[in-house]
Amino acid sequence: MLKAVTRCLWSNPVAGRRMLSHHISPNLSGKVAIVTASTDGIGLAAAEALGQRGAHVVVSSRRQTNVDKAVSLLRSKNIQVIGTTCNVGKAEDREKLINMTIEQCGGVDILVSNAAVNPFFGNILESTEEVWDKILGVNVKASFLLTKLVVPHMEKRGGGSVVIVSSVAGYQPMPSLGPYSVSKTALLGLTRALAPDLAQSNIRVNCVAPGIIKTRFSAATRAARGYRWRDCVPVLRRSLVHHRRDHHCNRRHELQTVKGLAYRQ
Ligand code: NAP
Repeated sequence: MLKAVTRCLWSNPVAGRRMLSHHISPNLSGKVAIVTASTDGIGLAAAEALGQRGAHVVVSSRRQTNVDKAVSLLRSKNIQVIGTTCNVGKAEDREKLINMTIEQCGGVDILVSNAAVNPFFGNILESTEEVWDKILGVNVKASFLLTKLVVPHMEKRGGGSVVIVSSVAGYQPMPSLGPYSVSKTALLGLTRALAPDLAQSNIRVNCVAPGIIKTRFSAATRAARGYRWRDCVPVLRRSLVHHRRDHHCNRRHELQTVKGLAYRQ
């Protein structure tokens, strides 16, 4: 997963520029990286990976205690880091995050839009309008609105990189996670919609689709009633396979693989 995030930072599938070997770690000194939802799990690991490569990292999440813990953990690893609270679903918090970054770090080069919520688990037909508003607001709309906020600042620095965190559930909806899965599919579309336009400003937009990673987020889902992750494994494995093949433009194979998908419930 981390390899995928860092790979996005130095490959450019849109314009085909800046293609380097996967084995070369980018030197990110002088770069400023915002990672949302970065006080735990994948976001914290991504912040650490970027910081270890020299980036000045900005961490955030909803709770001040979590922000404080993440900042001191990263500082203990000699990573240059600042932090603030930011619930990505709130406009004033998003603005505060970007303004603080510009004031204290002088600009922004990288945005990893990682925050997501899943307040619903069950039959999709039982999901309410409130659930959909929350999931689409935090998982999809906030990713777009944060990108919109950072673009002018990236343009001032001659370019940048946006990495959106989707999920394999975006390729194949997971059992009982209908609205969440749909939001992750929307992020694949958002990436493709943004990429050509932002390529004009030398800003890359890429999407990472992790499989199951042991974090608090996945543990909550695992603990939910009757859910058996092992039933999803064939789906996930095949989703990843078709994702990789898609990467190599083998679209015909992708369609065949999707058609053959089935999961047990
Ligand atoms: P996690 O370990 O549970 O961490 C969640 C982080 O998000 C915490 O720092 C939390 O801190 C913060 N957060 C939650 N709601 C937020 C909000 N509205 N605004 C800002 N921060 C918020 O989660 P994770 O598993 O690393 O998931 C990260 C991303 O990876 C998500 O987009 C998820 O969909 C995706 N993903 C995860 C898996 C997996 O298996 N874990 C698989 C595929 C995709 P506070 O409580 O302080 O806000």
